[in-house]
Amino acid sequence: MLPKRALGATDLRVSVLGFGASPLGGVFGERVPVERATDAVHEAFAHGVNLFDTSPFYGVTESERVLGGALRGLERDDYVLASKVGRYDADEFDFSAARVERSVRESMQRLGTRRLDIVQCHDVEFAPDPTQIADETLPALARLRDEGLVGAIGLTGLPLDVYRRALERTAVHVDVALSYCHYCLNDTSLVDSGTLEELRAGGLGVINAAPVAMGLLTERGPPAWHPAPPELRRRCAEAARVCRERFDCDIAQLALQFALREERVASTLVGVDSRDTLERNLAACNAPVNEAALDAVRATLQPVHNVTWPSGTAKA
Ligand code: NAD
Repeated sequence: MLPKRALGATDLRVSVLGFGASPLGGVFGERVPVERATDAVHEAFAHGVNLFDTSPFYGVTESERVLGGALRGLERDDYVLASKVGRYDADEFDFSAARVERSVRESMQRLGTRRLDIVQCHDVEFAPDPTQIADETLPALARLRDEGLVGAIGLTGLPLDVYRRALERTAVHVDVALSYCHYCLNDTSLVDSGTLEELRAGGLGVINAAPVAMGLLTERGPPAWHPAPPELRRRCAEAARVCRERFDCDIAQLALQFALREERVASTLVGVDSRDTLERNLAACNAPVNEAALDAVRATLQPVHNVTWPSGTAKA
């Protein structure tokens, strides 16, 4: 069984490997039928995965619907269900209090639950006014937390300064921060920038998402929409080739193993689209790390280390 860790100062304990459900919305390719999702979700749960993360944005509500169907039959108190508010499509954002309250209720309906354990503001760098998250969105979530509809509340985004900006301004206690693509083989800026320690010092639980960098660190490569610049894509493809040809090793599994070494992160969320992906990731959790492959891959990626891409509105 996978070990669990405390999520910051909340009373939630989450598995070190979490189930990222964005692929269930068809984000990385074809749509995932409920039967295939159910198979993956139940298998994950049987191995001790208890954190399931989704959003109304993923597949424009499809991920929540499919995950809700797949979770049926599991004891509700035995898993931690996380969703988000504020982002509804690639270019559709609404962080207003009214939308937050409606959104949480709609998510609960799609997920077939009467409470959400975690709700986070989704990609806050896209808020039209940077003060809105601190002054309106988080207070709206805090009211839902007071009512007991929501357990913990949090922030997600790509630029690492979004947390500090919101936390310095808001009067609300924030429980969780989710960072993505900033603690993986090619990018360790979550740690290098001091953000991980800063968040933990503030009592927040930290979730690290996308250990295979949204497909960059896979043999299949990233989807067409991936925002990485060409040189980063090229280096990652080269690293995948080096890993396979010189070490007969799968870069995705190595990437997950690397991310899991950071024990100050409460949970690492990897996208799962099938039992096959899940099993490969569970196998990686239990296998020894190929240190020679790790060194070679990191050397290949060194010229693009911590290279990222812009995200959000100019004002945020
Ligand atoms: P990821 O890096 O975890 O996975 C990317 C793709 O690689 C997916 O298609 C996945 O199925 C596939 N994959 C995973 N393991 C693999 C393996 N061993 N071999 C081959 N392919 C493999 O990226 P992600 O899914 O975007 O991130 C994980 C989860 O984190 C998401 O599902 C979502 O729940 C969350 N997330 C949140 C935010 C946010 O809040 N802003 C951003 C990114 C991710």
